[in-house]
Amino acid sequence: MVQKYYESDADLRTLEGKTIAVIGYGSQGRGQALNLRDSGCQVVVGLRPGNSWQKASEDGFEVYPVAEAVKRAEIIQILLPDESQAAVYRTEISPFLRENACLMFSHGFNIHYGQIVPPPTVDVVMVAPKGPGHMVRRTYEEGEGVPALIAVHQDYTGKAHAVALAYARGIGATRAVVLETTFAEETETDLFGEQAVLCGGVTSLIKAGFETLVDAGYAPEMAYLEVLHEMKLIVDLIYEGGFTKMRDSISNTARYGDLTRGPRVIGPETYAAMQEILEEIQNGEFAREWLLENTVNRPVLNALTRADEEHLIEQVGKELRGFMPQFQK
Ligand code: NDP
Ligand code: MG
Ligand code: MG
Repeated sequence: MVQKYYESDADLRTLEGKTIAVIGYGSQGRGQALNLRDSGCQVVVGLRPGNSWQKASEDGFEVYPVAEAVKRAEIIQILLPDESQAAVYRTEISPFLRENACLMFSHGFNIHYGQIVPPPTVDVVMVAPKGPGHMVRRTYEEGEGVPALIAVHQDYTGKAHAVALAYARGIGATRAVVLETTFAEETETDLFGEQAVLCGGVTSLIKAGFETLVDAGYAPEMAYLEVLHEMKLIVDLIYEGGFTKMRDSISNTARYGDLTRGPRVIGPETYAAMQEILEEIQNGEFAREWLLENTVNRPVLNALTRADEEHLIEQVGKELRGFMPQFQK
């Protein structure tokens, strides 16, 4: 079984006297920086001039250009977009890294695929929350935490693991659970999850259901409520108590349809596609494709995003949500 850590396994004193530079102040940067500060850690933020800089200053942080923040810090948590990390690392981080510093990531992409190769004289670790930044913040404010993964890629000081655990405690993750992993395992499972199940899988499943109903002549509004709106209710039940709790809450008719029809929707073809997607992640093909896409201003990403924004389901959804009070804020 995988090694698990809780509050009592992590010691915040490990971070005493150390300055943490959070590089980037987007989804993860903001959530992690605010939680660390509330946990009593010394935090500075590294950025370029722009919206995030403004936001971090308004939140009361000392904000510096990336190189300046790195010079001030013993721990450098890189929370830039994955596709920008290597370039920023080369010019603004690597030249200013001190011996014994701890270089930290929340996703293993750049280390695992060799885009960032740190010097042997620093620690390289990962603390990866399994949830978006606003949840990292909100759960912390509520006295809870989002689970996280930790991994050690390089342990120069002999303290890399303790620092990662303490950092995980600082962001509130040990209040939930922290799991031990490797950069390879985190990177590959994270990419697979978002592609095949969470983002890619779910949106494609919803679209397929919506289009099937609309093509058969049913009202798009009906189709929307049925296959998209209700998705959250079902997923919340699964989140709270697994398949069992969800199946306890639905009708017997729904349960029979679920168990007998579901496997026909996700059949052998889907298993084969998932296998292929996983292989492209493992052999670096996906990483190469995504990094190259970024060097030419993302033509594929832009075209596909636009096409989905114009999809009927988005128009119908916008209109229907306009009538529902829970979406008015
Ligand atoms: P975001 O896109 O939300 O934020 C990126 C931040 O980096 C922004 O503050 C942006 O500022 C800043 N930035 C971008 N380019 C530069 C640059 N050249 N120099 C200085 N600052 C720059 O990123 P995320 O928080 O989504 O992702 C950060 C990391 O966390 C990634 O490794 C990701 O895989 C990981 N992660 C993300 C999760 C999520 O839910 N979002 C979940 C778990 C891990 P500006 O306003 O100037 O553009
Ligand atoms: Mg993920
Ligand atoms: Mg991811």
